[in-house]
This record gives sequence, C-alpha cells and structure tokens, in this order.
Amino acid sequence: MKETILGVHVSNETYDSIKKQLFQHMEDNKQSFIVAVNPEKIIKASQDSSLKELINGADYQIPDGVGVLIASKLQGGSITNRITGIDLMNVLIEEASIRAKKVFFYGGKPGIAEAAKQKLLEKYPSLIVSGVMDGYVKDNQQIIDTINAADPDILFVALGSPKQEEWIRDNRSKLNVSVFQGVGGSFDVFAG
Ligand code: UDP
Repeated sequence: MKETILGVHVSNETYDSIKKQLFQHMEDNKQSFIVAVNPEKIIKASQDSSLKELINGADYQIPDGVGVLIASKLQGGSITNRITGIDLMNVLIEEASIRAKKVFFYGGKPGIAEAAKQKLLEKYPSLIVSGVMDGYVKDNQQIIDTINAADPDILFVALGSPKQEEWIRDNRSKLNVSVFQGVGGSFDVFAG
C-alpha cells in the first residue's frame, strides 16, 4: 500500500509486512528496491523531478522520520508506522540468518563493511555474509562482478543519498540480487 505526499510515494507498511513481502519476492525471483524517505528528501524531490523519479521508481519508499507520519496525518492519510532504514536492515538481517539467505555489504570507507560484518556475526552467528566491498572502488565492472560472484540474496548499499539510490537504479538489472536497500551511514553505526 502506498500514499503520495507532495508527489512522492510513501509505503504504508509495518516491519513485518514488508519483511514478508521481500522474502516472498526472493522466492519468486523478483527484485525489490527500498529507499528511505524523510521530510527533507520529500521536499527536495517535490522540486526536483529527477530525484522524484528516482524515489518513485523504487519499489518501497519507507517513512524514515516522524515528519513523514505527521505529513500523512495532516493530509488525511493513514501512515502511522515509522520504518527506519537501519531498523529494517536489522530485521532483514535477522530473517536472513534464520532462513540461510546471503547478504552483501557494499559501501563505506575501507574496513567499515568488514567491521559491520564482524559485529553482526556476533549478534547473528548463523548469518551468511557472502561478501563486503568498500564504497570507494572506482571500477564499476569489478563491483558488479564481485557482487555477482558472491551471489547474495540481499544487497545493502551505503554510499550516501542519493548516490546509493542512483547506483542501485543504474545497476540492479546487471545484478543477480533480489533485495536492494540503500542504507546511508548504517555500516558505520553497526561497526561501532
Ligand atoms: N560513502 C561511500 N562512497 C562514497 C561516498 C560515501 O562509501 O563515494 C559512504 C560513507 O563512507 C558513509 C556513507 O557512504 O559510510 C554515507 O553516509 P551518510 O550518513 O553521509 O549518508 P546519509 O545516510 O546521510 O545518506
């Protein structure tokens, strides 16, 4: 379910409903692209049609910010669940570890994705991290080849916004990945 705020799509889901859909799409070999939206991004996108297309072109626009809930309420909408990028990442990682699905961390400064992986393995020992790559590798073909060789089900991309969303949009068709989530500075948070 979706609502539109200033022309920008916002998904009306819960952590549980979105998790169920994403893991079902995985079984169906369907790709899903998740972008986090907050009031600043919505206002920017309402004045910038290419940014609006980028956001609306994703499959899920999660309301990462209470301001989005307030905007929904003001226009008579019904979005009451905040879904933050980092919490959704946690939920997907937990489910991936239960279902033996593979995850890949792409982005952040050298060493950060690896440190995030180690911290997450302490929390979820059965998690399968099939690869990590920092966000400063220049050769895009090398990035694509490395990710495809690792064959992940879920790819978390942390290049900052909107760079990570543009990268996902431009490369998703070349990747044998089901779920793409742009996660901003989340690897830095997990790495501690
Ligand atoms: N980053 C990267 N490659 C780049 C630019 C940024 O890997 O070319 C990483 C950076 O190291 C940081 C993240 O992207 O880990 C950006 O996080 P930030 O909190 O700035 O993103 P936001 O959540 O604000 O979009």
